[in-house]
Amino acid sequence: MSKCGLLFSVYHNQLKRQVILMELLKERILKDGKVFPGNVLKVDRFLNHQVDVKLLNEIGKEFYRLFKDEGINKIFTIEASGIGIACIVAQYFDVPVVFAKKTLGKNISSDVYSTPITSFTHGRTYDVIVSQEFLHPEDKILIIDDFLAQGCALQGLINLIKSAGAEIAGAGIVIEKAFQQGDELIRSPGIRVESLARVESMTDDGKITFCD
Ligand code: 5GP
Repeated sequence: MSKCGLLFSVYHNQLKRQVILMELLKERILKDGKVFPGNVLKVDRFLNHQVDVKLLNEIGKEFYRLFKDEGINKIFTIEASGIGIACIVAQYFDVPVVFAKKTLGKNISSDVYSTPITSFTHGRTYDVIVSQEFLHPEDKILIIDDFLAQGCALQGLINLIKSAGAEIAGAGIVIEKAFQQGDELIRSPGIRVESLARVESMTDDGKITFCD
C-alpha cells in the first residue's frame, strides 16, 4: 500500500472507532441513563457509581486521539466523579492526574490555589482547592470531567489553572447537556471543549435526544 493509502486507512480506522464509541455511549445513556427532576441525568450504572471500565478505556483512547498533539503533561479534574475517568485518560498520555478538592473549611492555607464552585447536582457552593505544589506555569493541562452543565465546575478548574499561570490545552467531557449554559460560558472565550455525547434535550418522562 502507498504511504498515502496507509495514512488514509489509519485515519479511516480512527474515524470509524470514534463513530462506534459515540454510538456506544449514546446507546448506553439511552439504556441506562435516568432523567431526574431539575435536568439531572443519572448515569450511575456505568459512570458515576458502578463503573464500566471497558467503556472508560475507550473514552480514554478517544480523548488521547483528540488531544495527543497538544503537548499535554498533566490531566486536571475535580473530585469525585472526574477522578476515575481522568486516571484512565492519563494512562494513554502517560502523565499524572491532579484533582481539585472540595472543601467547606473556612481556613484556606496560603499554599493552595482556591476558587468557589457551585455544584449543579447538590446546589451548594464549595471552595475548591489545589496545592500549589502540583500546578506550575510550564504545565500544559487537559481538563477531564464527566459532565458539562452550567459550566461552573469547568470554569472553576480553569480559574485554578490560570492562578498557577499554566496553559489550558482544552477540556474532555464525557456527557455535555448542550441545552444548558456551559457551552456558551466555556467555548465562547475560546477554550477547546470536546464532548463525546451531547444531549440536546431531556424530558421529565425520560426521553433523551442527542445533538447531531
Ligand atoms: P456544571 O458545573 O457544568 O453545572 O456541572 C458539572 C458538574 O456537575 C460535573 O462535575 C458533574 O459531576 C455534575 N453534573 C452536572 N450535571 C449533571 C447531571 O445531569 N448528572 C450528573 N450525574 N452529574 C451532573
